[in-house]
Amino acid sequence: MGIRGWWDVVEDAAELVWRRDCPGCAGTAVVPVAVGAGVCRDCAAALRRPPERVDGTGHPPVSAAGPYGGVHRALVLAAKDHHRPDAVQVLGEVIAGVVRHLVTVGELPDPRLAPVVLLPAPTRPSAARARGGCIVARAAAVAASGLGGDACAVPVAVLGEWASDSVGLSRVRRAGNLARSLCLDTTAVGRVRRLLRTPGAAACLIDDVCTTGATLSGFSLALAGRGVIPRSGVVVARS
Ligand SMILES: [Zn+2]
Repeated sequence: MGIRGWWDVVEDAAELVWRRDCPGCAGTAVVPVAVGAGVCRDCAAALRRPPERVDGTGHPPVSAAGPYGGVHRALVLAAKDHHRPDAVQVLGEVIAGVVRHLVTVGELPDPRLAPVVLLPAPTRPSAARARGGCIVARAAAVAASGLGGDACAVPVAVLGEWASDSVGLSRVRRAGNLARSLCLDTTAVGRVRRLLRTPGAAACLIDDVCTTGATLSGFSLALAGRGVIPRSGVVVARS
């Protein structure tokens, strides 16, 4: 067997090893996934669309990578319900893509020039435990490392287990409810405040799905009470 034939065998073997179902197709399609890429070619194309602003969310302004459907929804479900680490990785890359867009339009600073502090939205500790850790916090950490420079992810809050059900309430009431049921980590908040003292630095809230914006508004409200004013919100999907 010549050199060329040998490499053909290696490539065939590599494809067998990496052949798995794409987390963006909700596990319905089995496709070869290129080494190092998290999704199939179709899903990668669907994820390359420009981010969009979510209307009527109050403060801070929220941008979404896409609508809650198709590949965006499938990735969130693959991470949350099927505990797939590859989906969490892709969610982080998607979040980093939206942050890069906000850097381009001047809403957030270039992390090479000033700190960009990603603040993952809080979840209940019991929900995080069931998923092997908070999905949003893990995705935010992936995003920060992908952004490089002075980008960092700082989990600052968890949701109290007693947080009341806010179904049927207005967005403002829901935001107030959420702000009251947050447990802020004062050490982590202190670290964020120090980071934000650097000229040009900005904080950006991160979540998986935005429906009414109540979660991010409530989170923002609670942080404002501790001297942290987030400039933006970034979510994977708007529903
Ligand atoms: Zn796919």
